[in-house]
Amino acid sequence: TAVTTLLSFGVIFGFGYLRDFFRRMLRSDCFGRPIVSAPGAWIDVVERYSNDSNKTFHCTARTSKCLNLGSYNYLGFAAADEYCTPQVIQSLKRYSASTCSARVDGGNTKLHVELEEMVARFVGKPAAILFGMGYATNSAIIPALIGKGGLIISDAFNHNSIVNGARGSGASIQVFQHNNPKHLEDVLREQIAAGQPRINRPWKKIIVIVEGIYSMEGELCKLPEIIAVCKKYKVYTYVDEAHSIGAVGKTGRGVCELLGVDPADVDIMMGTFTKSFGSYGGYIAASKEIICHLKHTCPAHIYATSMSPPAVQQVISAIKVILGEDGSNRGAKKLAQIRENSNFFRSELQKMGFEVLGDNDSPVMPIMLYNPAKIPAFSRECLRQHVAVVVVAFPATPLLLCRARICISASHSREDLVKGLEVKSCIFVNVTKFTSVEIHM
Ligand code: PMP
Repeated sequence: TAVTTLLSFGVIFGFGYLRDFFRRMLRSDCFGRPIVSAPGAWIDVVERYSNDSNKTFHCTARTSKCLNLGSYNYLGFAAADEYCTPQVIQSLKRYSASTCSARVDGGNTKLHVELEEMVARFVGKPAAILFGMGYATNSAIIPALIGKGGLIISDAFNHNSIVNGARGSGASIQVFQHNNPKHLEDVLREQIAAGQPRINRPWKKIIVIVEGIYSMEGELCKLPEIIAVCKKYKVYTYVDEAHSIGAVGKTGRGVCELLGVDPADVDIMMGTFTKSFGSYGGYIAASKEIICHLKHTCPAHIYATSMSPPAVQQVISAIKVILGEDGSNRGAKKLAQIRENSNFFRSELQKMGFEVLGDNDSPVMPIMLYNPAKIPAFSRECLRQHVAVVVVAFPATPLLLCRARICISASHSREDLVKGLEVKSCIFVNVTKFTSVEIHM
């Protein structure tokens, strides 16, 4: 009994300590540091700031110019663009920043209709629907597609918006090991027989949900293998292309194009406009029947204000550049540049001895730090040397798998990347010394 009591105290104390530690760390200045510029290759970062709402001090006016290795601005459209920005300003003057209405009311502009047609054409599906927010696209669409009596089979590392949508749907949820088609098949085999007709199954509907590029891992989805399993078991596939659409594939059409998958083999394609297109909002592309069903039943379409028109225009203009419809070859150059930049930076980091996750061609490259106590100091040291990086810790990653996540953009020049590598190499030498998590002011 004494041993059990002691162990219980140990566990309770341990959890309490960890909880306090992570609460303290979330208040650290390495999260949510304000920036005062567009998220281009270089950003202006507020130098001194407190993320702790218990303190009166918030941020000083002094800023420091930093190399931006933390934004999802993969193709560089999020900073002023010679083609997109004038058109966005025009649309702001014509339509204003908000439609102040849902699509079914007065919020359906000509731009929204144009973008839906464009997205469907771009990703190779018959139809598409827009939403004002990428996160809400997953969390609102999944419950509109599946409910009680249905089964969602979700990759273990799927984004929180998918987890939230799946939980809110009321469907049963099974999780398969990250990016492991064999385990997906094991999970499916426990539920249904291969090729069993949908009508004879214990589930009304089964949807397998994966991501194109995993945002915390930088890994490409094993989509061809996953599709093969889904076809064998006749289940629906849902692919979140937030980080892959526009960023990979010869013409920017995402993982399907990169991995040679026919878009007709993916039932529901989801994506966001907040990364490669430098804008805001999300989309679902699917068959005409699915999109029609969503337009008539999804509360987020019926009751929420439509996407901001300048944000819609930004995506239209960016897709035109990607497709070369602006009359230049800037789109093709950007796509070649992001691939070259990503592969260069990844291989250099590996040569330097960093443990870098992810696959070639992926612009997301997490550097493992492991020790959560080191990440505020790592982030601060990068900033001190004028490099902005994102650090990620629990609960976004497992407890001891915290990391710095580098995101590469087509707008980085070779000199930018070399500077980033110089700073990383000098920090790498020192990183073992970092232990502090106190809040710097
Ligand atoms: N899906 C994935 C895989 C994501 O990583 C994110 C956010 N980065 C979202 C959805 C949500 O998109 P948004 O930030 O555009 O709301």
